[in-house]
Amino acid sequence: MAIVKADAYGHGARECSKRLESEGVRWFGVALPEEALEIREAGVKGRILSLGGFWPGQEDLILRESITPAIFDTDSALRLNTAAAARGIVCPVHIKVDTGMGRVGVPMEKVPAMAQALSRMANLSVEGIMTHFAAADDPAQDDYTRLQTARFDESLRIFSDHSIFPQIIDLANSPGAVAHADARRGFVRLGGILYGLGGDVLPPGIPVPDLRPVMTITSVVGLIKQVVSGETLGYGRTFRTVRDSVIATIPIGYADGLPRSLSNRGEVIIRSQKVPIVGRVSMDWIIVDVTDITGTQPGDEVVVVGQQGGLNIRAEDIAGISDTISYEITCSFGRSRIPRSFSSTEDDNSG
Ligand SMILES: *Cc1c(COP(=O)(O)O)cnc(C)c1O
Repeated sequence: MAIVKADAYGHGARECSKRLESEGVRWFGVALPEEALEIREAGVKGRILSLGGFWPGQEDLILRESITPAIFDTDSALRLNTAAAARGIVCPVHIKVDTGMGRVGVPMEKVPAMAQALSRMANLSVEGIMTHFAAADDPAQDDYTRLQTARFDESLRIFSDHSIFPQIIDLANSPGAVAHADARRGFVRLGGILYGLGGDVLPPGIPVPDLRPVMTITSVVGLIKQVVSGETLGYGRTFRTVRDSVIATIPIGYADGLPRSLSNRGEVIIRSQKVPIVGRVSMDWIIVDVTDITGTQPGDEVVVVGQQGGLNIRAEDIAGISDTISYEITCSFGRSRIPRSFSSTEDDNSG
């Protein structure tokens, strides 16, 4: 299952889903029915699982667009069952069991009651049973991941006692799929590694797949100016030149998804060299020190995420400075005003 929630982690859900479908992906995972509708309207024909279920009033949307909801409470199951009965159809659902994530999912102690309730809902069919790992990326917590797997297997036994035998059972997200082979069952639900992210969400010290980041973020040099030693730059005057400097101003800022925590800490690539961000990242601009690069010109390409001249800046690198994970970085760029272009060339992952 390709997880394309949150606009495909900022990469563009419509385009990514269409491309993945053309590559043979038959299941897509989104967070909510609105996201399912978006990719349906883009032309996705495959199955779409709404991981976050649906809200009261969205039953008809679910049925009309053939969206498959995750179900984790009896009330929503009943509402969907009623709506499906009114249409004279049987709606497939996937039951999400909370084996230890503590977020959404049927709590273990409520699994028997849920199984019993579902076995009486003639217009729902339990096609899938799933759970979600809390710490599959952390080998120090593998005991907990094993406990979650054992609880999940126990929940499957309870469902089977109520004659519920799902065709699809699934547990693993990206780290689960890579690090816990026994969690690869009916399918794995891959988000991060699908987009080439994983340097920071896969456990260290295990064989990892060859991951190629899909997202590249570029800008251009806007202005170049000479600044004498001792001048301060940017909001708060947090940077002072210690030499006569050549300073470039780049039109990208925190409103474009570049975290403000990169102030005086981040880097970009210009003319195949890494140069430091100096001063505060502001809403629309960053300032970089290009004194050590000869010939920088307005219009030069600036690589914020991606590769140039053998150098590489990954979303993971930015995340490391910003005390977050790569997913948040690509989501932030995706939500911003940066225009996106999509390349469909097999060996070109720069689009
Ligand atoms: C987001 C999500 C995933 C994908 O997680 P990745 O770490 O990006 O692979 C899988 N399953 C569920 C239930 C999710 O919410």
